[in-house]
Amino acid sequence: MDVTPILDSLNDAQRQAVTSPAEPTLVIAGAGSGKTRVLVHRAAWLIDVEGVSPQGLLAVTFTNKAAAEMRHRIEALLNLPVQHLWIGTFHGLAHRMLRRHWREANLPQNFQIIDSDDQIRLIKRLFKNLEVDDSQFAPKEIQWFINAEKDEGRRPQHIDDGGDPNLRQKISLYASYEEVCQRGGLVDFAELLLRAHELLRDNAELLGHYRRRFKHLLVDEFQDTNAIQYAWLRLLAGADGVPFVVGDDDQSIYRWRGARVEHIHQFQRDFPGTRVVKLEQNYRSTATILNAANAVIANNASRLGKNLWTDGAEGEAIRVYSAYNERDESDFVIGRLRDWIDHGNLRADSAILYRSNAQSRVLEEGLINAGIPYRVYGGLRFFERMEIKDALAYLRLIANRDDDSSFERIVNKPTRGIGARTIDMMRSYARANACSLWRAAGAIASDDLNGRAANAVNAFMSLIERMARETDGLELQDKVDHVIHLSGLVDFFKKDKGEKGETRIENLGELVSAAKSFTPDPAEEMSPLDEFLSHAALEAGEGQADAWEDCVQLMTMHSAKGLEFPLVFICGMEDGLFPHQRSIADPNGLEEERRLCYVGITRAKEMLYITHAEQRRLHGMDNFSQPSRFIAEIPVEHIEEVRPRVQVTRPMHTSYSPRRKSAAASPGSEMGVRLGQRVRHKKFGDGVILNCEGQGAHARVEVNFETAGTKWLVLSYANLDLM
Ligand code: ATP
Ligand code: MG
Repeated sequence: MDVTPILDSLNDAQRQAVTSPAEPTLVIAGAGSGKTRVLVHRAAWLIDVEGVSPQGLLAVTFTNKAAAEMRHRIEALLNLPVQHLWIGTFHGLAHRMLRRHWREANLPQNFQIIDSDDQIRLIKRLFKNLEVDDSQFAPKEIQWFINAEKDEGRRPQHIDDGGDPNLRQKISLYASYEEVCQRGGLVDFAELLLRAHELLRDNAELLGHYRRRFKHLLVDEFQDTNAIQYAWLRLLAGADGVPFVVGDDDQSIYRWRGARVEHIHQFQRDFPGTRVVKLEQNYRSTATILNAANAVIANNASRLGKNLWTDGAEGEAIRVYSAYNERDESDFVIGRLRDWIDHGNLRADSAILYRSNAQSRVLEEGLINAGIPYRVYGGLRFFERMEIKDALAYLRLIANRDDDSSFERIVNKPTRGIGARTIDMMRSYARANACSLWRAAGAIASDDLNGRAANAVNAFMSLIERMARETDGLELQDKVDHVIHLSGLVDFFKKDKGEKGETRIENLGELVSAAKSFTPDPAEEMSPLDEFLSHAALEAGEGQADAWEDCVQLMTMHSAKGLEFPLVFICGMEDGLFPHQRSIADPNGLEEERRLCYVGITRAKEMLYITHAEQRRLHGMDNFSQPSRFIAEIPVEHIEEVRPRVQVTRPMHTSYSPRRKSAAASPGSEMGVRLGQRVRHKKFGDGVILNCEGQGAHARVEVNFETAGTKWLVLSYANLDLM
């Protein structure tokens, strides 16, 4: 057997990891050292050399995109398709198990996944039904509470209220929430994991089956597993399983969502005799970028500590640009992107990273104006758009009449004369009789409602029944097409004159295309419609339209984990934004932000730009901030400050700042200097002011010195004599 392709492109430490005997293994190493590569090659090694059937492998990745990539790479190494390999995120794999064993998991066969928005809506409804006062709890707070408890593996009966009435009420809301979900066959994201864990824990036979089947468990980004994911993994591994996990403590960035980096230590306790492999050579970034990242992360106290080096090129200095405001920042980024593209580079090889989703809007506007195609990971995604959710709600109701959130979403959309009072009556009936809204609607339409209201409800119900009948047996895309028309959604948005309505109709059309190009997974055992709906809920954002197009990648630093790009921009490096305001005072929070910064910097292969703005409008508020402390943690020798190119035109975008406007009218006037003014510098001699920028301590001038040439000087340090 020729193992060359599997081992050839690995260094010694990587090879050692890939070929380890069947015993628990922990690969712990810094960014870009080849952890993911090792995982891919390990899978290929097991299949090709150890003779493990692809069905006997379970591989966990952090995103669906990474799962697709990993499958592709394994296939490329083996030169054959590996269809029955279970590879996916913890959520995706848990979902697959629940679909297969819905009975044992005590779920209806057609259970639906609800996302964060559905969850909030459900909680709000619960508040109303139970007459909970919004001023006591915010629905979001309860959502966090429920999800956090589930992430820790706790059901309401496992939580001790310790005599605290506030906590008692939260627990009781959690219990009511569970009841509603169970009745409607609804499963939220955290529930997928918890239920999959309980499924194995409580079914010895199933557990035995899966333990025999999946002897080898491969996990990427292990540092970001939460308690329930880890418990599931441990359960599945049992005494004889061979977990092989790779991770980096310095890249643990999901503590706020329940991830526990401590699992790295826990693992070694739970699996005695764990083989630990360290990888120290970085293959991704230039020495400059790597050294900058190493210097930043060295400021964290709680680390395992490791040595990461490269024998790659020194590379270019990191460019830091101090922008005037967020538009100037965006103009700068787009200018550099243009250069990059004009030099024949792929747009997809560049990424713009930011701390908060809201930052993308201004950058997006800039890219649109510049006509540069881009793609946002996260943010408002295709499957989260209103019209798409409406159409999906129809489809979901067809699949499951007891899906209350879908029912409520569309019962009167498009408007069909079912008023708030009627809906309230349905809710009370459903509550009193512990039934779904669908059943309640049927009951009150025949007994309690007056003629007009009863007709409206009956018409809605027969519409849904008719859709179900007429689409039965149709191909998935025809089903979707039929539903968007018969529901009246297309006509409804047609009435919405202008571009918005048009876009919505286009999006509905896009949903039909999405259904058309959707290929059901042969390993899933469910109807194509159910699978499509689950896919829509699970993969929101990742299957965004135009995935094939060469475009600039925009994403938060959180979603950039595991990825790499030749050119990277990190925008908004300001104290308060990054590190985030709420983490600054908390040492643990600050360390997590620093790890995020480490993740951000180490995404770059060749060139890294860091930008910050003196003034930024975000969430409708103007902020004035200092450059991020993380910039100061990068040794100066790795940095080159970028000087703005055309200074005097910069204040153009600041129409909301009258002070800036006057500065625009007469650059430099507020600094006490003017363009064209002659000045004298102690060292550089005489010169003329060409440009001015910034204000206060940041004020700078560009001076053309007669002998020393052109220089930018910070006014407060330069001690210029005006002549
Ligand atoms: P992260 O911590 O960001 O997830 P990682 O440790 O998973 O990074 P990989 O993504 O596997 O690192 O590898 C980083 C880059 O280095 C990839 O482009 C990969 O192809 C390359 N690489 C890894 N090992 C080698 C090697 N032995 N020879 C050449 N290139 C390598
Ligand atoms: Mg990786």
